[in-house]
Amino acid sequence: MGQGGRPRRRVRADREPARVIPPRVLDVAPSLPETPAYLYDLPALDEHAAAVRRAMGATEVYYAVKANPDAELLRVLAGHVDGFEVSSGGEHAHVTGLFPGTPVALGGPGKTDAELRLPHHRIHVESPNELRRLLATGLEADVLLRLNPDLPVEGAALTMSGPFGMDEAGVAECLPLFGERVRLRGLHTHLASGLAAGQLLTLAETLLGTEHEEVNLGGGMAVSYDRPESRFDWAAYGAGLAALRRGRRLRIEPGRALTAYCGYYVTRVVDVKRVRGEAYAIVLGGTHHLRTPVTKGHDQPLTILPTGAGPGVTGEPLTVVGQLCTPKDVFSRNIVTSARVGDTVVFEMAGAYAWNISHHDFLMHPKPSFHYLRA
Ligand SMILES: *Cc1c(COP(=O)(O)O)cnc(C)c1O
Repeated sequence: MGQGGRPRRRVRADREPARVIPPRVLDVAPSLPETPAYLYDLPALDEHAAAVRRAMGATEVYYAVKANPDAELLRVLAGHVDGFEVSSGGEHAHVTGLFPGTPVALGGPGKTDAELRLPHHRIHVESPNELRRLLATGLEADVLLRLNPDLPVEGAALTMSGPFGMDEAGVAECLPLFGERVRLRGLHTHLASGLAAGQLLTLAETLLGTEHEEVNLGGGMAVSYDRPESRFDWAAYGAGLAALRRGRRLRIEPGRALTAYCGYYVTRVVDVKRVRGEAYAIVLGGTHHLRTPVTKGHDQPLTILPTGAGPGVTGEPLTVVGQLCTPKDVFSRNIVTSARVGDTVVFEMAGAYAWNISHHDFLMHPKPSFHYLRA
């Protein structure tokens, strides 16, 4: 770490200091050859995925690839998960290219006829019309019907009501259409994102009250960007599902809660200034590389490493922004901290819905480089 200083952690008056970043990440971040950069802690992902796998016991775990399709991450996850949930022909080609023969569950609203023809372990059918088009392919298929249950979801970050899946009437319309080639295996649902173990278990109780012998309970396990140290209670969820199973085949498909924690977006402070009393640190790159704080409306947790010797501010509310010419390019607002030009900024929790959901080409700044810590 340059300047021999200690990292300045973000501290908010109303909050506990955030969890400590692994020393190996803090060691590497200031010396990355190019910034902005994405840095992935693969040993941390390996450990986390193994812990989730253990906690879930007999419940199958598929990784929802849309959270982050990075091949290096998928290779680590492949050692722990039972399969992958893909939601497009592109994700299907990517995953089956990397892991031929691995089980895939094919989901997503608005599947094309070409997508309906893709080989799968399970296909999640979203509507009666989609099921009819699947039948018309003449191919074999193993179907889970995606139910959009009428359940209140309190405190969820994003509810998936609206066009996703079907209501009970839609499911009833589908039931008589099944036969020898296109087989009904059970139900699929994905209710919301940002759910605690207790809320997911309530959902599970409802779905397991049905006759279906196979149920995919979806993803949406809570990830708290306000309190990075608080984690989804995998042990409670696993034990709760084990108690509800009664011989049925259960599956979950988490995305964010598997990969969010292993990714970091590392950049440097390029300017520090005050405008009408407000202090700003401007970093190289921006939310076109890490769109998560804009889409979720949160402050991205960060740590500033004192590698800079330029002008700066000390111990006052500071808003950290990127290089884009838009007032929306904000990572974190009014964080009480200190920053100097040349300091290294490490944004945490940038491993899911981060690079791959971002509008990379906006303003044509250079793309980040990608780095992987290995065991
Ligand atoms: C996005 C999605 C997931 C994963 O959700 P997370 O919140 O990332 O866990 C799982 N299943 C379906 C159907 C999805 O659309």
